[in-house]
Amino acid sequence: MKRNTKNILSWVFLIGILFLMASPFDTKILGNAPKELTYSKFMKAVSSGDVKEVYMRNTSSKITGVLADGKIFSTITPDDAKMVEKLLDNDVEIKVDAGDSGWGYLVSALIQWFPFLLLIGLMIYSARQMQGGGKGGFGGGAFGIGKSRAKMFQPKKVKVTFADVAGIDEAKQELEEIVDFLKAPQKYKRLGGKIPRGMLLVGDPGNGKTLLAKAIAGEAGVPFFSISGSDFVEVFVGVGASRVRDIFETAKKNSPCIIFIDEIDAVGRRRDSGRGGNDEREQTLNQLLVEMDGFDENQGVIVLAATNRADILDPALLRPGRFDRRITVQYPDMNGREKILTVHTKDVPLSPDVNLKTIARGTPGFSGAELANLVNEAALLAARGDKLAVAMKDFELAKDKVIMGAERKSMSMTDEEKRNTAYHESGHALIALLVPQSDPIHKVTIIPRGGALGMVVRLPEKDKVSVTKTELLSNIRVSLGGRAAEEIFFGKENITTGASSDLKQATDVAKKMVIKWGMSDKIGLRTFYDSDGYYMDASDQISQETSQIIDSEVKKLIEEAYTEVKELIMKNKEKLERIALSLLEHETLTGDEVKLIFEGKELKKEEPIEDSLDDFKMGGLPTGDE
Ligand code: ADP
Ligand code: ZN
Repeated sequence: MKRNTKNILSWVFLIGILFLMASPFDTKILGNAPKELTYSKFMKAVSSGDVKEVYMRNTSSKITGVLADGKIFSTITPDDAKMVEKLLDNDVEIKVDAGDSGWGYLVSALIQWFPFLLLIGLMIYSARQMQGGGKGGFGGGAFGIGKSRAKMFQPKKVKVTFADVAGIDEAKQELEEIVDFLKAPQKYKRLGGKIPRGMLLVGDPGNGKTLLAKAIAGEAGVPFFSISGSDFVEVFVGVGASRVRDIFETAKKNSPCIIFIDEIDAVGRRRDSGRGGNDEREQTLNQLLVEMDGFDENQGVIVLAATNRADILDPALLRPGRFDRRITVQYPDMNGREKILTVHTKDVPLSPDVNLKTIARGTPGFSGAELANLVNEAALLAARGDKLAVAMKDFELAKDKVIMGAERKSMSMTDEEKRNTAYHESGHALIALLVPQSDPIHKVTIIPRGGALGMVVRLPEKDKVSVTKTELLSNIRVSLGGRAAEEIFFGKENITTGASSDLKQATDVAKKMVIKWGMSDKIGLRTFYDSDGYYMDASDQISQETSQIIDSEVKKLIEEAYTEVKELIMKNKEKLERIALSLLEHETLTGDEVKLIFEGKELKKEEPIEDSLDDFKMGGLPTGDE
């Protein structure tokens, strides 16, 4: 996406420069052309006081200036000794330019040549960019647009190996075969072994799909070409397709090797989705299909593609001989998290108190990338404190930053907004304490973080494989607690926009209960998700009547929950208020502190807030409010 934008920008820039060049740079600036005056007209204008100022150059007979009405004019003057006198008599402001002498000349020459220089620079730059670092030169049509920008890494450059990939052993095992094949394609060919040409790595971002692809190249010592699906989708029709052609061509010349296509959904989305075709994307996709079919499976080119939306891919992409092998890259479990933390703390000095197992236990739901980020943030914190090693405390603080985003203390909230937020978050917190099977509260804060004004973070106590219906219903209630508190304390007409992500969360859960998990009596034990867990929303899958029932069931779930939440808040109004007031005073409360206040006990708060290490728990989704 980024490179795409850059490309468009360069074009806009280029066109702009051509536009400027079309007119002599020093006189006409974007259509503000000066009026040409004869010398006599000019002198007349001077006499009648119509000239405000003139610009003269030492050696030039050309004068430009400004008339009383603001218009720019220019004129050619003879060698008239009295002219200056006359100008002075008529109060004309005279400005003399050092003109053609020395630096002045150089500068004006530079100004004149600047657009050309810029243009040439730009041409070289874009040619380099688009040809993907490899050979220089200007091949491949205008600025090498058609050349693929796939980055070619020489075997040395990919230093990633399987040792750098932790915690996703199943995916790793499946891919080890590919490494063997890439190391000795001939051997496989002789034995008649069939290696898939294309493999799809499916999983949420940050779980190591790119890392795995690189590790294969690194292990096998083969070149790695990588490109993102969004790079294929270009402004100009046909560019994407030719890019696909080029990358495959180059790859075949460099086989054995790996082509990695990130975000393949950007180009491989289902073609029949109805909402008006995108010619460019379709052409690109077709070209990709042609290329996938067009090489021999033992040629030694393996195409790996990554996506987190396998459900929207065009079925043609998944046919045998194309991306017919699917490898799921999942969130790591507790052991996996510990291994990933071990990999990432390999070169980080740790204090003796650091226990990676404890951290792993406290990070359910973290992706590999988030764990890497956690280690990095902790190391930064320790460095900022001039410490020699990273302590558990640093991990503790880093985790809040990773879960909730950085604090934005600078963001100024009015007192009213602060109060609203305090009651809103207290609403979530109160309901979390009242409903059954809710994950325990980790923290409640009204310090803005990331995009949220405040948030309640609840953390599961351990990795969850499944969730009960009660728990889901409780989650819906907790999500609605914020809005309900606002309505009860400040009135229906004063509710704020702060609940939109809460409502989305509640709606998502309710919807999935109905259409995915068979938890609505009216819909019954049916699911509208395919075997990969993706929603099938095409009209041939769900009848209109069923759709209507789904809608009304979702609505009912949410409405019932909201009514109940309001009742709960009404019954516990003072408790909620106590939490809110304490939040206004301290800004952040831990789960235990909220519980104390809820039970009416006195809160002895030490500043700054420090969790005990046993309390090191995280994961789960914060209830953020924008
Ligand atoms: P994806 O391609 O699935 O979005 P990436 O491979 O780009 O994820 O992962 C981003 C970063 O997160 C990696 O560079 C690595 O530092 C870290 N990471 C993710 N998964 C793992 C893992 N299983 N083991 C070690 N590090 C990981
Ligand atoms: Zn909220």
